[in-house]
Amino acid sequence: MIVIDGAEGEGGGQVLRTALSLSLVTGRPFRIENIRGGRERPGTLRQHVTAVEAACAIGGAECEELKVGADALTFTPGTVQPGEHRFAVGTAGSTSLVLQTLLPPLMLAGGPSRLVLEGGTHNIYAPPFDFLERVFLPILNRMGPTVTATLVRPGFYPAGGGRIEVEIAPSAALSRLDLIERGALRSVSARAVIAALPGDIAVRELESVAKVLAWPDEARRIETLPDHYGPGNILLLEAVFEGATELVSGFGKLGVPAQMVGAKAAKRMAGYLASDAVAGPYLADQLLLPMALAGGGRFTTVKPSSHARTAADTIARFLPVSIRFEEGERHHLVTVSAD
Ligand code: AMP
Repeated sequence: MIVIDGAEGEGGGQVLRTALSLSLVTGRPFRIENIRGGRERPGTLRQHVTAVEAACAIGGAECEELKVGADALTFTPGTVQPGEHRFAVGTAGSTSLVLQTLLPPLMLAGGPSRLVLEGGTHNIYAPPFDFLERVFLPILNRMGPTVTATLVRPGFYPAGGGRIEVEIAPSAALSRLDLIERGALRSVSARAVIAALPGDIAVRELESVAKVLAWPDEARRIETLPDHYGPGNILLLEAVFEGATELVSGFGKLGVPAQMVGAKAAKRMAGYLASDAVAGPYLADQLLLPMALAGGGRFTTVKPSSHARTAADTIARFLPVSIRFEEGERHHLVTVSAD
């Protein structure tokens, strides 16, 4: 039995989710203690419980001690069951994070799957749907499987009510990728998406983006969603290169001035553009698991986050791989290799 200390490193929900995915793929049971021990409110939140329940449902698995607020649990995987599954992540819990938990076993399963996930689609501290669609899934699809995700209805915190549908055509194995150069910049865009909130929020976000990023006027646009999707606001900055796409998001929040949301996201995009890396900080931690399942791979990234280093440690508990981070001039190089 693999025993994991959920407080180590980043100490967030990712440790639990990574362990669930890997347990289902490898068939190895695990026990996790101090779940989300590095967070202000430790223990499982509703969305983590849904991720575990979903992992049990698709993996014929059993879980002991599962409840909202659990600080430990034991997970015993069974046989992965591809097919049709539907999960509702109560309140506005992130559908993306539940999807990322289920993808590794389902993209290597014996048959295709179709998932319907309900909850939040644009959550702070989680990949927004657009990040999955534009950044994460295109790379995953280059490794063998074909995963297509459709946003049926957006869901913002706190109301939720979003829905995504995902089709997964698995592959018998994942192929290695070497993502070293991103190539030439092809296009950029800044979208301020808003629902049932004053329109000047979006205007001020885009104005502050324009002060940091010298992008053409036509690259900036406001997208107003029908009021019943709101209240909600997200700023999405995208840079498409020949060999990579980065999408930086800024989340509008009560009490945080729109100018600040815009300036912060724009500075993060400027940092990525100033590097010559393929993967931004979030893609970096999310790529480690598929690359480890492929038995190896390499990519360049910006400075590795504590999420990335923690993911590397969790992966090493389940799979015989080594993950190395090396600092270069305008990027860091991450190498995943089989032991
Ligand atoms: P945790 O904080 O441990 O629950 O993990 C959060 C996960 O969400 C990590 O895999 C992050 O890479 C990912 N994430 C958080 N914010 C974003 C964002 N703005 N864009 C893309 N991915 C994100």
